[in-house]
Amino acid sequence: MMEKDYEAKLMGLSYPKPDPYGSLSMPVYHTLAYEFATAEEMEAAFCGCTAEHTYSRVTNPTVEYFEERVKAITGAYGVTALNSGMAAISNTFLTLAWNGSNIVTSRHLFGNTYSFFVNTLSAFGVEVRFCDLTDPADVAAHLDANSCGVFVEVITNPQMEVADLTMLSRVVHEKHVPLIADTTIVPFTTFHAADFGVDIEIVSSTKYISGGGTGLGGLIIDYGRFDWNQSPRLRPVAGESPSAFHYKLRREIHRNLGAYMTPEVAYMQSLGLETLLVRFERQAVTSKELAKRLQSVPEIESVSYTGLGDNPFFEVSRRQFGDYPGAMLTFGMASKERCYVFLNKLKLIRRATNLFDNRSLIIHPASTIYGSFTPAQRVEMDVRENTIRLSVGLESADALFEDICQALKS
Ligand SMILES: *Cc1c(COP(=O)(O)O)cnc(C)c1O
Repeated sequence: MMEKDYEAKLMGLSYPKPDPYGSLSMPVYHTLAYEFATAEEMEAAFCGCTAEHTYSRVTNPTVEYFEERVKAITGAYGVTALNSGMAAISNTFLTLAWNGSNIVTSRHLFGNTYSFFVNTLSAFGVEVRFCDLTDPADVAAHLDANSCGVFVEVITNPQMEVADLTMLSRVVHEKHVPLIADTTIVPFTTFHAADFGVDIEIVSSTKYISGGGTGLGGLIIDYGRFDWNQSPRLRPVAGESPSAFHYKLRREIHRNLGAYMTPEVAYMQSLGLETLLVRFERQAVTSKELAKRLQSVPEIESVSYTGLGDNPFFEVSRRQFGDYPGAMLTFGMASKERCYVFLNKLKLIRRATNLFDNRSLIIHPASTIYGSFTPAQRVEMDVRENTIRLSVGLESADALFEDICQALKS
């Protein structure tokens, strides 16, 4: 599952030296403004004619270092680090959408993404069209000249649905629309979104990259492949840069919204990147092992992990993500009440939200993440009352399985 030159890409990237103290790690530039020798140099920096930093809402050396590391690993054209996954999603769509445009997506969405599309963007004349992203004909039927993007989560949670991205990107590109994928569930060290036709990748770096659950972060990874002359919103700046999207995002949207990543978080997440691969390997192997064992536990009615041979998305999941599709699984029990009794008895696994923490975390999604939705909306979104979501940490499969078994005993 390891990319051969991953370590070279990651460890080989140093920051510009000399450093007055010979610091091995990129220091945290806990600073806001930058000083210039002359007014002329200042003018050049502010107009973007030189690459100097001016103000930390726009760029910061520590954050830029983090962005460069992600760029080296993914091979992207441009990377923008923001202060949460939601900031990455909102900045992306405020760059792409226009009054009268529409977003084509599925109802199987992260709760706040759903709410951002349905409640927030709709107030600005942006329509959300829900369809079945695993059905190319249904996707095609929802696209038109005003579609600003198709948005897909690569493994939805808690439904655990996987769209065939190669097929999806073909349909979407035929209609001259960009494909935007939230890949938070499978890290880019394992899953190479651009190989499957994704134009813009969005990651909540709060999750795998942070690891220890230390700080919020989000990434917009632009592969620079889409022809933005096809977008009514971006066409006017299409001549300015190889990616009009990146140009508009960096020159206008992210500056105006003010949600840039902080240097402290960029420092911690740069450290997280260094251990991401080893953490993920262990967590993903444990997840698959645990999913297999849970299938034989009588009190557990169903187990969803797309790396299991009998999962309906097994083939497409293997093609896209390899043998270990993430470190999250869901399972069903007899009732909500039964779920609560079980959750309350766990000793090792923590009752908390977040994903891919170093500790295993468990949650009842319907009553928490989706608690503000009506029962009817939860049915539409396929969020069930008897589903539990487990994010697998660095503990051993034996210890986790033992904790689950003891909690199931009444
Ligand atoms: C957590 C999450 C987000 C939002 O990220 P934040 O960093 O919490 O803002 C978006 N998409 C998915 C799939 C997530 O799991």
